[in-house]
Amino acid sequence: MPSSSAADPAVESITPGVRRVRVPMPPGTGLPFSNAYLIADADGRVHVIDPGSPTREAHETLRAALGGAPVASIVLTHLHADHSGGAAALAAETGASVLVHERERAGLALIAAGLPAPDLEAWGVPADRRPELLAAAAVPTGPAAQLADAVTGVLTDGVLLDLPGCRLRVVGTPGHTGGHLCLHDEEAGLLITGDHVLPTVNSGLGLGGPTHSNPIADYLDSLDRVAQLDRGDLRALPGHEDPFTGLRERCSALAAHHLRRADEVAAHPGGTVWETARTLTWTGGWDALAGFTLLSALRQTSQHREFVARRG
Ligand SMILES: [Zn+2]
Repeated sequence: MPSSSAADPAVESITPGVRRVRVPMPPGTGLPFSNAYLIADADGRVHVIDPGSPTREAHETLRAALGGAPVASIVLTHLHADHSGGAAALAAETGASVLVHERERAGLALIAAGLPAPDLEAWGVPADRRPELLAAAAVPTGPAAQLADAVTGVLTDGVLLDLPGCRLRVVGTPGHTGGHLCLHDEEAGLLITGDHVLPTVNSGLGLGGPTHSNPIADYLDSLDRVAQLDRGDLRALPGHEDPFTGLRERCSALAAHHLRRADEVAAHPGGTVWETARTLTWTGGWDALAGFTLLSALRQTSQHREFVARRG
């Protein structure tokens, strides 16, 4: 049974050395909280995985959970603000190092430099729908630049974070973003999954700046990679929602979803991204898509078309 501290209902003990903190997200962001994980090492220091959103409420929730313990490092599963947004302020206060995957640092640099607008004409978007999409695609560069400045080191696939009393292996899991990572504690049977695998929510893909590889192909490989770690009792600690088991089955379901979508796209060859997207099934229906949701739908369709073309 998960136990919540009576003093702080946002905090749940996962193992003696690992706590989960439900960090509130700003209203209107779709999900109520992101999860930060606090790893206590044998030297009495804490390592924070994904401090959460860049808001005062999030910061105060995390500081209350930390209770004044020294913070040695902050590790980010990926660059999205609901996981990484609090990192710069926490690092400035505590002197902690800030670590991301090397591919994520490259993505951050691209976003900080300003991403080019999507080529809506090439996607076949009607002229009257282009302004809302251009507005949705305009990502502010400031937060990415601030985070890029706060990063003090990078991690690579397979590297071991050998903390006193705890060993966490970096598992590179590109797809949701190009440099997403998971952290595997083999001894404790835990995998911190970030947004790579959530228990019920289907994460969007290719949301970390442009990459040379196809996000769908990357994501399917990354699902395989983490599914293989589950020998039946691995506990997944996700970036949103609640910890869960059955990771292997969840990975299969997510892979099947994307392969079904690829088949749907393959059934409508030719035409533009816009024309393909209109033929696909969307939760809530095609006509309800607007602004950011429409932009994501078109991006996903474009990625699936490219995936199908590469698959042959
Ligand atoms: Zn994310």
